[in-house]
Amino acid sequence: MSQGKFKYFPLVLSAPSGGGKTVVRSGLLKLSKKFAFSITCTTRAKRPGEADGRDYFFVTAEQFGKLRREGKLLEWAVVHGKYYGTPVKSVMTVLNKGRIPVMTIDVKGARSVKRLFPEAVTVFLLPPDLKTLVRRLRGRGEAPGGMKLRLKTARAELREAPKFDYLVINDKLNAAVREVAAIAELETRKTCRSMDRINKFSRQLAGRKP
Ligand code: ADP
Ligand code: 5GP
Repeated sequence: MSQGKFKYFPLVLSAPSGGGKTVVRSGLLKLSKKFAFSITCTTRAKRPGEADGRDYFFVTAEQFGKLRREGKLLEWAVVHGKYYGTPVKSVMTVLNKGRIPVMTIDVKGARSVKRLFPEAVTVFLLPPDLKTLVRRLRGRGEAPGGMKLRLKTARAELREAPKFDYLVINDKLNAAVREVAAIAELETRKTCRSMDRINKFSRQLAGRKP
């Protein structure tokens, strides 16, 4: 998928469950209008406090299958036994508005996005240590069974971490948010993303009378 005509690029945040994707995303959205959430869809049940169209598009397995067959998902994965997928439209709408789609997706999804969108920037978030992760999962109300499953999945997720472009340690939340924002800012300065500016200047120079 070519992304050359867009000002920005998708910013993918992955982490083990409880690693801080949701809160870092909220922090980015508060920090700057440049960032926008690209809403994904899932077949899992809505949790208390979640809203359809805000946190996720909550769909049935049949609706998910139809979206997949019709090629409307940029990527999809099964996480903890439920289907999750990113609608192409969610990402394109944000890119077309000249903003950065923040994608909080699992490690398999991140790999698919990078394959389809080589310009995407991938960030792996990690709490400072396991004790902190367990404390945060408990604080979020994770039951012992859910905790066991999430920590088991975390092992496989960590094996994928070296494939990400950046690693951010999510110790103090504000610092982690600022680091991710700084990464996005630096990425916009890459020469490969700024060829239009360089070419414009070259054309001005070429047109200048001696
Ligand atoms: P994820 O979306 O990756 O599963 P969350 O963003 O839901 O993780 O974070 C898991 C829990 O840890 C939440 O209760 C959140 O408020 C808390 N948390 C995340 N990052 C921090 C942090 N830096 N400091 C304190 N609590 C945090
Ligand atoms: P939760 O059910 O806790 O909201 O999310 C479970 C996992 O699914 C998280 O790692 C989350 O980032 C991931 N996820 C959410 N939406 C998508 C998506 O569209 N695609 C993929 N691949 N993963 C997703």
